[in-house]
Amino acid sequence: MDRKERFFGKNRIVVKIGSSSLTHKYTGYLNFNQVEKLARVLCDLRNQGMEVVLVSSGAGAVGRKTMGYLGRPEELPVKQALAAVGQAKLMMTYQKIFSEYNQVVAQILMTKTTMLNADSRRNARNTFDELLKMGVIPIVNENDTVATHEIEFGDNDRLSAIVAAVIHADLLVLLSDIDGLYEDDPRTNPDAAFIPEVEEITDGLREMGKGTTGSSVGTGGMSAKIVAARMATDAGIDMVITNGEDVENLYRVLDGEQVGTLFLAHKNKDFDLMEYLTAY
Ligand code: GLU
Repeated sequence: MDRKERFFGKNRIVVKIGSSSLTHKYTGYLNFNQVEKLARVLCDLRNQGMEVVLVSSGAGAVGRKTMGYLGRPEELPVKQALAAVGQAKLMMTYQKIFSEYNQVVAQILMTKTTMLNADSRRNARNTFDELLKMGVIPIVNENDTVATHEIEFGDNDRLSAIVAAVIHADLLVLLSDIDGLYEDDPRTNPDAAFIPEVEEITDGLREMGKGTTGSSVGTGGMSAKIVAARMATDAGIDMVITNGEDVENLYRVLDGEQVGTLFLAHKNKDFDLMEYLTAY
């Protein structure tokens, strides 16, 4: 089946954007132009009748800048405090920009511990369903202010795959700072071959993903994206990694153009989200 056919009719989509795609590379401040373009595209997808969920990183990055930190602090309470500041500011920015398009957004902060509980998962799903029915765009992040190392999702690539599985999305798109998956790290090996489509996530592929994207802003490297792909595709959801530098890539993905790397869904009948939540 070609991509056009495969993507036709995809209606419930989860879009994840990382901190490095939302901030300026050299200053670390929010890239308003980028946030505006993202909001515009997502609102336009809503206008086409799609249900859209945004998983956005940036709490830590925005918090650090707001409070004048140059590097990444190590101490957990400091990180959590900065995320609390940054998340509020990030949402304020989103709310302001989305409202220019008359689009209501909602904030959903998730924790791994609540996702491990079947009742909470069901509640979360009902809330998402209701918001989507209301035409709202839920904006999701990890609740970084309470998550500690032992109980965190860790990165939003994984979190977005969990969200996609919980709400039975049709498609997950990761807007990254790289075009997709390469056989080697293209930053160190310019001859690295690009992989447009992945049918099966093999051990070899997982090994290949071990080198990260090299971003110092976000937390999810390629290996986190491959874990996310595994969860999403096992849950029966196609996943695409594409470059978020041009958020209009989202249109191209949905039009079935050959952009990014497509990981093909292959619903595993034994799929059990709990297993993934506890294993990774
Ligand atoms: N939740 C983190 C934040 O908003 C980001 C995690 C990630 O970069 O994947 O700062």
